[in-house]
Amino acid sequence: MKSQFEVYLRLKPSNNQSQNAMQYQIYQNKKLQVLLPKHVKFGMINHTRDNLDFNFTHVFDQKSSQEHVFTNVTTPVINSFLDGYNATIFAYGQTGSGKTYTMSGAETWQLRGIVPRALSYIFDEIDKRNKFEYKIYISFMEIYNENAYDLLEKKHLETPLEQWNKIALFEDDQNNIHLKNLSIHQCNNEQEGIDLLMMGNFIRQVSSTPMNQSSSRSHCIFTVTLEGYETSSETCFVSKLHLVDLAGSERISKSQVEGNLLNEAKYINLSLTYLEQVIIALNERMKGANRQHIPYRNSLMTTLLKDSLGGNCKTVMIATISSENDNIEESLSTLRFSQRVGQLENEIRRNEKVDLEAVVKRLEQEKLVLIRELEQYQRGGASTSSNKKNQQQQQNLLPQSNGQPISQKDVQEKVELYLNERIPMLDVKSIEETQKCFEAMKDLYNTRMKEYVTELTFISEKLQKYDEILTRKKEQSSFLEQKENSSPEVEIYRRNESPQITFKKRANQ
Ligand code: ADP
Ligand code: MG
Repeated sequence: MKSQFEVYLRLKPSNNQSQNAMQYQIYQNKKLQVLLPKHVKFGMINHTRDNLDFNFTHVFDQKSSQEHVFTNVTTPVINSFLDGYNATIFAYGQTGSGKTYTMSGAETWQLRGIVPRALSYIFDEIDKRNKFEYKIYISFMEIYNENAYDLLEKKHLETPLEQWNKIALFEDDQNNIHLKNLSIHQCNNEQEGIDLLMMGNFIRQVSSTPMNQSSSRSHCIFTVTLEGYETSSETCFVSKLHLVDLAGSERISKSQVEGNLLNEAKYINLSLTYLEQVIIALNERMKGANRQHIPYRNSLMTTLLKDSLGGNCKTVMIATISSENDNIEESLSTLRFSQRVGQLENEIRRNEKVDLEAVVKRLEQEKLVLIRELEQYQRGGASTSSNKKNQQQQQNLLPQSNGQPISQKDVQEKVELYLNERIPMLDVKSIEETQKCFEAMKDLYNTRMKEYVTELTFISEKLQKYDEILTRKKEQSSFLEQKENSSPEVEIYRRNESPQITFKKRANQ
């Protein structure tokens, strides 16, 4: 199924309404027309006042509330995520244009952004969808100077950034990326999710002590992983939702920064430049150019978001711009970038897989039944010879010959009863009958042996399948292992105060 990238625009409220505000018009909430001021320096002097048009899925004006943005942008994306499709929402724009405000939110619960709202929505929705059982996992990482770090590792509260374990990336034969040193936390309700988000934001803030503006120089990826088990089947699905707050997209001129900052600027600009290159390459490929190679591997961020950018993922971008003329060059750069992103489409599919636990459970039950059957079979029937009291009754089980020579069928019946110990002895009246009895015994023996071999083959095949599945299950990605080894470390967070985002007590909503 094709899924066109959706690109939204959000305008940050202007600080000074009259003096220096950007001149623009919004048409039908879908088009932004920017009226260029006379002296914008795009390498040339602008003598004529031009209008530039940019199209979006939706334009959110300066007055748009957090709730309005969430409902319009996120609700359909999360519904698709809950149905088993991967999804990514990323915010792109210059520093100060409202990326973090849009994704995480501001100080109050009322002003919370997409991430906490998404958590509430996810848990509300899964409560309603009772045909499935869901498991939710959360991870949160920061990419800073081309290194990725776990923001949910409690040890990071006490150690400086230099001592943190970097997240390592591995690619398997199917080009799937696996991450080491990223904890994954199972999350049972909205509050646990919000606690993790706040812990991550707090750790992010702690990590940025040397430069208090660090948050604008790093990318942040909050990932929700969902496992959905259909109660009536052995398939389950796994989907991932990445909520990404990118570093500021402004080009920091070299003259303004030096030393460490220059290094950072280089990395940040590079990774955003690589992001742009990936988008351009994908655009060219879509337009039919022979572009096999998409340069995902040039930066950590594009490698991590490879699926979001050109793979199996429903992807949404929120471009944020300031409404001041001072920032118009950066705003135009964001707007232009967003137009390129808006042309892309991904091929998406539901991530279904066999629910190994359910299969193993079923096989274990089947195995038990088989073993029981086998035992019963080996005993050669249920009754034993100890039941002597019913001998007269047992005699009555015998076919009656009434003086006539007994038929082969009757002999077989008699021999079967004898072998199953349902009669104590074989009563034979002639040599001919004795021979018939031996014949019947031979036939029965052969039939039983055949049945026995078939049964054993069946059981050993089942057991082999069972072993294969167990081995596969063990091998099946470090993801499951990580999940088992990690638990939400919210305790320590609660003991600390003032995280970057402190939601005030939740209002009646
Ligand atoms: P960025 O993450 O892009 O660097 P921030 O989200 O930190 O920018 O926004 C910078 C400042 O502007 C913050 O104080 C934030 O609260 C405020 N702000 C951003 N967007 C809005 C908005 N739409 N409405 C109100 N305040 C906003
Ligand atoms: Mg920010």
